[in-house]
Amino acid sequence: MNTLSRELQRELDVVTAEGLHRAPRVIGGAQGPRLEVAGRECLCACSNNYLGLASHPAVQAAAREAIARYGWGGGASRLISGTMRLHAELEDAIAEFKKAEAAIVFPAGYMANVGVISALAGREDTVIVDKLDHASIIDGCRLSGAQMRVYPHGNTDRLEAILKASGSSRRRLIVTDSIFSMDGDLAPLREIEGLARRYGAWLMVDEAHATGVLGAQGRGVAELLGVEEGIDISMGTLSKALGGSGGYVAGPRALIDLLRNRARSFIYTTAPPPAMCAAGIAALGIVRNAPELRETLLQKTDRLRRGLNALGFDTMRSRHHIIPLIIGEAHAAVALSGQLFQRNILAPAVRPPTVPRGTSRLRLTLMATHADADIDYLLASCAEIMKGSPGMFSAAPGKGRPT
Ligand SMILES: *Cc1c(COP(=O)(O)O)cnc(C)c1O
Repeated sequence: MNTLSRELQRELDVVTAEGLHRAPRVIGGAQGPRLEVAGRECLCACSNNYLGLASHPAVQAAAREAIARYGWGGGASRLISGTMRLHAELEDAIAEFKKAEAAIVFPAGYMANVGVISALAGREDTVIVDKLDHASIIDGCRLSGAQMRVYPHGNTDRLEAILKASGSSRRRLIVTDSIFSMDGDLAPLREIEGLARRYGAWLMVDEAHATGVLGAQGRGVAELLGVEEGIDISMGTLSKALGGSGGYVAGPRALIDLLRNRARSFIYTTAPPPAMCAAGIAALGIVRNAPELRETLLQKTDRLRRGLNALGFDTMRSRHHIIPLIIGEAHAAVALSGQLFQRNILAPAVRPPTVPRGTSRLRLTLMATHADADIDYLLASCAEIMKGSPGMFSAAPGKGRPT
């Protein structure tokens, strides 16, 4: 081994000793309620493909037709010659869906957050974030060079204190997930919106996990809570419930125009393949025309959550389609995940740094296309594992607390 390998291996050994080493499992076949893993058929209880659109026939057909007509690649960056008809059509479709003046699409949600925050905030500004905001928001703040202030998860009193203390900043930007990706709870958007207005701050909301799922029309948590008017910058993705890839921002025309001119992750990258746009347009059409998909997803998730709570598992404040099954120590979460995998259920452990130490968990998510029998099998497996190793969940905070 050369010195680079030796040094990096030492670093990896530490990660492994802490139970934090991760390696991707390779999935055969398409995304769906069942996945082929290492030649076995497994029940998938961990994807963000909530509505099953990643392999929906209409979405696949739209992508195929786009490839046949427009080829595969974007050819250049969006501001050179990469903006093809389908990019413009997708942005129009998103603006219409979100009832916004305009929209801009990035190759990924990660790039949207990084690009938007660094375009809107700089050294004289303050960006205020929830402690549990997604990593892409935090990275955007770091890149922006703005002061970053963090309030404890969901704590609007502390948010207000930060707003009071940061009045000398040129600009204040509050950024929050709408539904938190690892805890499944909602941001108190109504209160946050009131504070943003009172203190003259801008409010950006990341609807990555809510787009297509929450709200009567699937526009997200802001729609669900009736606060869309008060959101200045609404970000979302095409990569979760919409089953494809890409990130977007919807908002006033001036905002979108400025982002086209300033967001470096939009400007300095090749336009996404036109087929990605065609798939996104098709997925938005399904979200519009098949509201029963999101209703089914929420009903099925409720059934699972009630069953887990009856078994004594702590699912925190989750009420919607993301269920955190809190275990505690990383090793214990990995052990539970491993035992589920022996029963052909795929639910990887989520560990630090993705979640705080001592709160390692399984993040369980279903799809609208899971059968009730799948949920029953998952519950029966959890019950069996608990019975077989009662000590295993001793580290779980709030263990046994029915919610
Ligand atoms: C997944 C996610 C993103 C990033 O979106 P990608 O399209 O996967 O890059 C951003 N914000 C949140 C809250 C997410 O969960």
